Amino acid sequence: MNESETIAVLTRGDERLEYADAFMWAAQRLGAQAYHMRLPSPSDAAGAWQVGDVGLGTNPVAVEALKNVDMVVDCALMLFSAEQTAIQAAGTRILSAVEPIPILARLFPTQELRDRVELSQKYLAEAKSLRITNDFGTDVTYRLGKYPALAEFGYTDTPGRWDHWGCGFAFTGSYDDGVDGTIVLSPGDIIHPFDTYVQSPVKFTIEKGYVVDISGVEGWSSLDADFVKAHIDSFDDPRGYAMSHVGWGLDERARWHGMVQDPAVIGVETRSFYGNVMFSTGPNNELGGPNDTPCHMDIPMRNCSLYLDDELIVDKGDFAVPELRPASRR
Ligand code: FE
Repeated sequence: MNESETIAVLTRGDERLEYADAFMWAAQRLGAQAYHMRLPSPSDAAGAWQVGDVGLGTNPVAVEALKNVDMVVDCALMLFSAEQTAIQAAGTRILSAVEPIPILARLFPTQELRDRVELSQKYLAEAKSLRITNDFGTDVTYRLGKYPALAEFGYTDTPGRWDHWGCGFAFTGSYDDGVDGTIVLSPGDIIHPFDTYVQSPVKFTIEKGYVVDISGVEGWSSLDADFVKAHIDSFDDPRGYAMSHVGWGLDERARWHGMVQDPAVIGVETRSFYGNVMFSTGPNNELGGPNDTPCHMDIPMRNCSLYLDDELIVDKGDFAVPELRPASRR
């Protein structure tokens, strides 16, 4: 952000108004032109909340205004909307900032984190295979090379690029039929969008890029497996059983137990914590693939080992590659 640039801060209703004040103060300090775009509250308060639907779809004048600034700070979360895509295509960069203030403060983006996230992106982009194991019986292999690797490191200085304050991870996707094996979630692993911690192991059997079975594990309750199955089935869309993106988080400041303390989090911190291996199910259109099912789960796992082309990258939840560790842990 500099003297030649313009910034718009987007909020909705009475949400995060203090965020807008803080961002405009910061923009002024940097000499940039700033304004606050405040969208109305939803008129149908009883309606189901849809990710990305902040009311811009019926407000083309507002969308045009946002296309004409250098940067939008999005405190309304228009993520995954067609309007966001159009604003980015016009060259406007976008930073989402919606997490509670203490999390934004703790996960303030740094060049050092960015370097490690972009190095991760490079590793993922160059690999032909990715294998994950854990002590609960996970052994799954992704065939890579069809889709790009993406990085989120919490800020953006590139025209048209989006990022999310608090993120520190990289990911890619397999060939559409390129995942085979078994994943077993262990207690403490996280299921988004439930925003809960697994209590009882969940076993996914995967063939040719699709989950073909979800079950509990002998000696444990099957409750978490039943929840996952019921959730995916509720979409009545077999594409919800597809395997989606896969990667890892790098931010040693992020707390995997963050939701225990504050259930209001969006889930940035729980996707970014150091050494987590995150896999997901459902759509791959974010990477350029054909699957656009609305049934999407992100599942960060602890204590996994991950190999790229048989080279150990993550060793039981810590990085085997020294350059992926923060300086203090090398
Ligand atoms: Fe995802």
